[in-house]
Amino acid sequence: MVGEFDVIKKFFSKTSGNQLHADKSAGVMLGVADDCAIFQPSPAHQIATSMDLLLEGRHFFADVDPYSLGHKTLAVNLSDLSAMGAKPIGCLLGLALPSLHTEWLAAFSQGFYDLSERYACPLIGGDTTRSAQGIALSVTVFGEVQKPYLQRSMAQIGDDIWLSGELGAAHIALQLLLKQQAGESLGAEEQDLLEQTRVALEKPIPRVELGQALHQIAHAMLDISDGLMQDLRHILEQSQVAAVLEEAKLPVSPALHGLPSSIVRKAVLGGGDVYELCFTASPSQRERLRQLSAELSIPLTRIGTIRARQTDQTDVQVLDRFAQAIEVFYSGFDHFS
Ligand code: ADP
Ligand code: MG
Repeated sequence: MVGEFDVIKKFFSKTSGNQLHADKSAGVMLGVADDCAIFQPSPAHQIATSMDLLLEGRHFFADVDPYSLGHKTLAVNLSDLSAMGAKPIGCLLGLALPSLHTEWLAAFSQGFYDLSERYACPLIGGDTTRSAQGIALSVTVFGEVQKPYLQRSMAQIGDDIWLSGELGAAHIALQLLLKQQAGESLGAEEQDLLEQTRVALEKPIPRVELGQALHQIAHAMLDISDGLMQDLRHILEQSQVAAVLEEAKLPVSPALHGLPSSIVRKAVLGGGDVYELCFTASPSQRERLRQLSAELSIPLTRIGTIRARQTDQTDVQVLDRFAQAIEVFYSGFDHFS
């Protein structure tokens, strides 16, 4: 292998001209091949697009398993499409690498393509370049949506607040990996805990089908990649409402059972890198949501209620099991704070 073009041809050209049909990506007319890719959304649909950037040392450790990294690079973007109820059309991949390692590229592209095939989101183009230092990955996704759009500003007073999946595992895995990276060795129990939780951090499953199914049901929705408390606030701010959450109802990952409650609380309320959907819906939708949860085999939990905003109250109140307000100071993740 000599250079950029061999890398593209060998690892990132599955969706080029004649393979398009096999990919069942009807909307893509031209994939990897030319100066641009060409695609077309279904009639009466609009295009939703989003981009995420992942940097070595900031978003992932240099020694992370490359298959998982390929998976996650696309997963975090598919999660944004899901949060808009969008159906994936295709994606672009920007790749900056300090050097070329065939084995690494093979595993990375396999992780990427396995997820791309699972959710019919073909890789239709990108750019490959050498970086001076570290790996940088950037994916842009395209999906199709229909009106009315699932916007963060659409929460209604009296809505239930729902959450998919479980919370806390990714945060615990990150803390343990940071401890390891700092040169400390993990005890047997910690090793065990890391094995149980790291899949949530390294191979998150985007809620693609769920997001699309919620298009007709939810009022406001987002994925909580920066943590439940921080991301829920985006809905509250944009919808000009407040929320009450019940701590006892929050779905905690079973891997966390037995950990001190203060650690669990922080992981669940503040932990980031969570690719679950948080949404609001009218109480009249409860039965329908229970059915949807069973159909898709995805836990859906009602965790609180949307209330009117009062100036003397914080916008999110979390009640403990004695209905006392918890002082919540976990703000979630912010790159510049
Ligand atoms: P240009 O020089 O016009 O930007 P390139 O030579 O960089 O084109 O890319 C050639 C083709 O390969 C294009 O279709 C481009 O979208 C695609 N491509 C380049 N890098 C990647 C990548 N990392 N993943 C997918 N497709 C890629
Ligand atoms: Mg180029």
